[in-house]
Amino acid sequence: MTRHDPADRASGFLKKNLETLPHKKRVDYLNQKLRGIIQYAYKNSIAFKNKMQSAGLKPKDIQTIKDLEKVPITKKADLVELQKKNPPFGGFEGVPISELKRIYVSPGPICEPGEMEYNELGWAQGMYAGGFRPGDIAINTFSYHMVPFALHMVDNSLLRNGCVVIPTGVGNTEQQVNILKTLKATGFCGTPSFLLNIAEKAEEMGFDLKKDLNLKVGFVAAEMLPESLRSKLEEKFGMVMRQSYGTADIGCLGYECLKKNGMHIPDDKIVEIVDPDTGKQLGPGKTGEIVATSFNKVYPMIRFGTGDLSIVTETPCPCGRTSPRLIKILGRVDQVTKVRGLFVHPGQVDEVASRYPQIEKYQVVVTRKEHRDEMTFRIELKGNLPPAEELKEGIEKGIREVMKVRGDVKFVPGGTIPEGARKIDDQRSWE
Ligand SMILES: [Zn+2]
Repeated sequence: MTRHDPADRASGFLKKNLETLPHKKRVDYLNQKLRGIIQYAYKNSIAFKNKMQSAGLKPKDIQTIKDLEKVPITKKADLVELQKKNPPFGGFEGVPISELKRIYVSPGPICEPGEMEYNELGWAQGMYAGGFRPGDIAINTFSYHMVPFALHMVDNSLLRNGCVVIPTGVGNTEQQVNILKTLKATGFCGTPSFLLNIAEKAEEMGFDLKKDLNLKVGFVAAEMLPESLRSKLEEKFGMVMRQSYGTADIGCLGYECLKKNGMHIPDDKIVEIVDPDTGKQLGPGKTGEIVATSFNKVYPMIRFGTGDLSIVTETPCPCGRTSPRLIKILGRVDQVTKVRGLFVHPGQVDEVASRYPQIEKYQVVVTRKEHRDEMTFRIELKGNLPPAEELKEGIEKGIREVMKVRGDVKFVPGGTIPEGARKIDDQRSWE
């Protein structure tokens, strides 16, 4: 068997013309795609037409990304309800069901249509940007049953990149190791924790991960990826691993390039970061909910609320791609608390705590005193270290920097913060 190992995984683009568009041209391009899908969906998707009519809108009212603010956001829970009333897709589909290739069923339960010709760009862009190249042989360890991710999205996107797919699916770790070895597979698609299982199993079987296996590149998704786990796996296998983010309903919404500099927004989606209370767009640098719009005529999702929080940046990326990037996924909207008018979320709490190795456990408590919000960062120190004034001041500075709101640090004895406690405990009452 010939070994394919493309020498250059770092340069080039999957769709150079789109990926390097100057900002203004990108906005023009997206606005034009938006007008097209709004017209199409209004005519062909009964659920979208209803949503527009409920807000008193006609297609001509939506000309630009800014105009999207007028369109109500569809949340996952709305989708579940509408699908219950009008199965299988709640009227969101833009083609007759007889024209589909497959129907997928995700937890919810929630159905997703599988179109005849898979045209989504995002995941494929993510694989290319993350180093997959034609000739790679990749195991796809996501689940091929029921849900659309492995079969519809990942498999098709590997093919689009000229890769050869081994559809291994989940589990059977020992067999996966043998397949990797025998077929000299260069690519891995799956969750980072499953790749860790594979690494441990292979070592247990007496293999040298670098000499006996040939993994060079990994595409991971569907799970948070701690940097420590990434570097451990990259080091063990001698590979690069990049992550992508998205949902089964709308597809890819962000992918990392080799510069590891946040997640580029793919060119076939519009991603807004909005205030979860008002649905209004927030500019770069502000934390808000990821709301996405696709141009997929089979399933035109327009203003789909992911429930995930992020921040967008438009600063240039050294990889040469000009698309805006999601800095990272910060948590879920339903875990967000507003303190003195500003959103505070568990991801920020973690970030503050991660700066101080002395911290064992922590929790933020929000209370109200004389009509003012008060935020207390409760901290248990490792080995019951004596609390130092210097450390307290340092952490309070960290809170202001990361959370943009003032909070007091209170050191509490070990065992004070209960196991499984909410990271942000909102104790305010509003009577
Ligand atoms: Zn980049």
